[in-house]
Amino acid sequence: MTTNTQLPHATSYLVKDTGRVKVHTLVSPAPMFANATHIIELPNELILVDGQFFAQYGQEFRDLADSLQKPISRFYVTHDHPDHFLGMGDAFADVPVYALPEIKESLATVGPHELEEKQHQMGSLIANRLSLPTEVVEPGEETIGGARFLFERVLDTESPVALVIKLPELGIVIAQDILYHDAHAFITGPVTGWKKALQALRDDDDYDLILPGHGKPAGKSDIDRAMDYLDKATELLAQADGPVAYKQALLTVYPDYAADKLIDIYCRILFR
Ligand SMILES: [Zn+2]
Repeated sequence: MTTNTQLPHATSYLVKDTGRVKVHTLVSPAPMFANATHIIELPNELILVDGQFFAQYGQEFRDLADSLQKPISRFYVTHDHPDHFLGMGDAFADVPVYALPEIKESLATVGPHELEEKQHQMGSLIANRLSLPTEVVEPGEETIGGARFLFERVLDTESPVALVIKLPELGIVIAQDILYHDAHAFITGPVTGWKKALQALRDDDDYDLILPGHGKPAGKSDIDRAMDYLDKATELLAQADGPVAYKQALLTVYPDYAADKLIDIYCRILFR
């Protein structure tokens, strides 16, 4: 089932194939936030991570999952920003959604407000309803379908609380918005904790494939560039005399980065 296409299509990638487990990523186009959402394809089931912003990409993510012909047993939402849960509302109304306890609680409050506001601003590009978490994930280790999953709560990065999922047997970290890969990062305050989390990912030799929340699957050198970006943005912010000058300075240094609309959105918070 596909809704009317109104936007350019997302792109999907087969990130890893061990024979037993496959990992797939769907990335929305660069001007549409380059949102990256992921499927861990186990022998008999699918585990999904994050739900896009636009309803069309939520549906394209569903179409990718359905093409694998296995049931979706869990859908994890990593944090409470609308580009990670709004798009999935219509397309994933029938799946169990998991989140950290405080994210589940936060989404119950901010979700309806975000839905109403974005529907008002963008009409039919936005889903008709929400599919909010009903289940809780606690940090720790779990074996699902024979594969090891490590769930971690990471504080004080791009958002105050975020879920990171590690697949040690695959060498994959699903870092979501801790890593923006060649995309403009969503900066709303000091980046000290954020850089510390990136450095920890950089230093962890057990993982070499990092799945970002924005942009294509990444490697270790992409983390270095993301840390440089946060330094540069901090420097430009200190020099700029307003949001227009700041955005212009950032676009001059990073003309090819995806998701430049995110700058406008977070500047409303940063320059409030
Ligand atoms: Zn995001």
